[in-house]
Amino acid sequence: MYTYKVMIHPNNKQMTKIRRTLNKCIECNNIVYDYIDSFIKNNEKIPSCSEVRKWFTVQKGILDNELIEKRKGLTKKEMISNHLDTLFYDVSNDALKQEIKDTYNSFIRYFKKLSKYPVMKKYNNYKKSFYVDPYKIDFSDKKVRLEKIANNQKQNRQVLNYINLAEKDRIPTNVKYYNPRVVLEETRFYIVVGIDDTNYPKKKIVTTNNIIGVDINIKSVVTSDNDVYKSVTSNKKYMKALKTEKRLQKKLARKYIKAKELNKSLRESKNYKKQRKIKNKYTRRINNLKEAHIDYVITSIINKKPKTICIEDLDVKEMQESKDNKYVRKGIQQNPFRKLLTRLTDRCQKVGVNIVKADKYYASSKTCNICGYKKIDLKLSDRTFICPNCRLEINRDYNAAINIKKYAIINN
Ligand SMILES: [Zn+2]
Repeated sequence: MYTYKVMIHPNNKQMTKIRRTLNKCIECNNIVYDYIDSFIKNNEKIPSCSEVRKWFTVQKGILDNELIEKRKGLTKKEMISNHLDTLFYDVSNDALKQEIKDTYNSFIRYFKKLSKYPVMKKYNNYKKSFYVDPYKIDFSDKKVRLEKIANNQKQNRQVLNYINLAEKDRIPTNVKYYNPRVVLEETRFYIVVGIDDTNYPKKKIVTTNNIIGVDINIKSVVTSDNDVYKSVTSNKKYMKALKTEKRLQKKLARKYIKAKELNKSLRESKNYKKQRKIKNKYTRRINNLKEAHIDYVITSIINKKPKTICIEDLDVKEMQESKDNKYVRKGIQQNPFRKLLTRLTDRCQKVGVNIVKADKYYASSKTCNICGYKKIDLKLSDRTFICPNCRLEINRDYNAAINIKKYAIINN
């Protein structure tokens, strides 16, 4: 399965329709959440998913009628400011149906002890999304058609039926789509679809017999070929963005307190919303820089065409707890270790490179790569490894990378 995420450029009318659908989905989530939650609080057995859906269909009609009653005599502007402008009837039924299923499944996952107790969705989340029926979605090379978002009935106004895609010819047409979703990330709209890649096999690379060991630490990624990739924290733009985000987050917190003092909901507070938009600009920037860096490191390693790549199986949480040094802990926090490892594993599977995970208790940096002497008292500050047994002098990370390579040779 391969996922495509492409930005879309909806016009103003389409934009309002998408926003309405997103808000209605959150409202639906909250109603269903309350319903199921009440059963659990009373120690009763929760109803089945189809029963919940039937219950919601009745509820939907009642709520719509109430809303029509409420907005009698109001102007359009007043309706919008009080969030009374959309009925459940106006939004796509498939989106609501899937929202109920998702909410229900989050409870089921809790019962199976796969996740924590679910939380209600919030209107001011950074990321919101809704589901589109795969049979009702239609792609052309430049445009996409969605149900109830762009469905102008008039024959001579066909252009309005489609939303512009930001990238031409990126998403293949005339194939089966899985779990299509429209996503809003603060101010940008995206469409995400899954496509079965058995029809679209990625090119497998022709590998050499080389085995590469990869050592990942706070300052760099070092391979057993002595290639050093500096970590993302050495990027000045990244560190600056982190600093700015922190400052803006503090400002946002102040706006939050002010809104609470005035007894305003966050959905109504314009100052809060404005500040959130500015702050999230930096959140996105940080994420993009991280992604770009991860992509650069992985592509550089895979371009060497190794047969096998060996990595350490890092436990980031444990790493953070075990380190007493404040700066080391911060470094671990700012580095996207987990993302790098999962992304590398995925990419290796896609292009047909073996991946070996070294045991997390394997002492890669404390062992001499030539004679195998274990230097137990090696400190974090020792950047060069000096073997007292065979007098080897070597860079600490390079030594670790070679040891990880050795692990792959022995255990494979
Ligand atoms: Zn030695």
